[in-house]
Amino acid sequence: FIIMVVSFVFSSAIYFNVDSELARFEESQKVVLEQQLVNEAKSRLIVNLAYLNLAILICAGAAGYFLAGRTLRPIKRMIDDQTMFIGDASHELKTPLTALRSEIEIYLRSKKHTIKESDEILKSNLEEVERLQRLAEGLMELTSYGKMNGRLTFQETSLKEVLKSALKNITSLSKEKNITIVNRAREIALLADSQTLTGLFTILLDNAIKYSPRNTKITLTSDVQERMGVIHVRDQGIGIPQKEVDKVFNRFYRVDKSRSTSAASGYGLGLSIAKEIVTLHKGTISVKSSKRGSIFSVEIPLSYKCFFLFL
Ligand code: ADP
Repeated sequence: FIIMVVSFVFSSAIYFNVDSELARFEESQKVVLEQQLVNEAKSRLIVNLAYLNLAILICAGAAGYFLAGRTLRPIKRMIDDQTMFIGDASHELKTPLTALRSEIEIYLRSKKHTIKESDEILKSNLEEVERLQRLAEGLMELTSYGKMNGRLTFQETSLKEVLKSALKNITSLSKEKNITIVNRAREIALLADSQTLTGLFTILLDNAIKYSPRNTKITLTSDVQERMGVIHVRDQGIGIPQKEVDKVFNRFYRVDKSRSTSAASGYGLGLSIAKEIVTLHKGTISVKSSKRGSIFSVEIPLSYKCFFLFL
């Protein structure tokens, strides 16, 4: 519309200018131009200007359509993503809520209950409530990382300290399954937010324990490649089928739910939170897996000091 207004103003200016130039020519040359010829020239000018305006309208319309489409595409993607997120979250919320409701309804329908029955129902209800609580916490964590860009404090962070805190978080879980954790990671100074990075390794170690049989081993190693510190978490667990490997970082994705024991059952949010954290650190996360176990590899940029040391 703006382009058309500008084009119309220019066309009118050209027309009136030509008109006034013809009048000036007549006056200065002291000649009288034949009116019919002048009118014909003016109509030709009007037709040409109309064609020019039409061409500009078509070009501006096409360019506007194309550019608006390009501008709106990321917004559309974001809206689609959010709609999908709400749909997935509602679906996940519905399952424990339905179980909770039907258990309470069945309980209320029968008149006589023994104390043992009541205890069992309450215990099962509590389990569902705990699942709901875990889901709510996971969702809040995931959305908070999405909004966090710019609010993290990236500074020189000791990998050893980060791993020490993460290992502390999962000690009781590893002891429960008698899983040995071998920490062979060497010290690297990373450019990171230490608390968030601890969260990332807690997720990876927690998964390694959840998806490993009793009496196995988890090994932590580290390396430096170009400007990145690379940390590997290797387990001797059930592994991830090759065709599922790329999908495990998707929100709410769980490899074959029947593989998870009730203790291990999650909502498929852990690895998407891990990916969010790694992206905030401008790093990468990947996984290699076989039937003998999985290796999750995380790349995090080195702190400047460490980077110059390795140059
Ligand atoms: P969950 O809460 O279900 O563990 P995650 O996002 O952490 O969700 O993991 C997604 C899926 O990836 C899990 O359901 C599991 O099947 C698979 N997975 C993650 N880590 C491992 C691992 N170390 N070994 C085998 N499978 C794993």
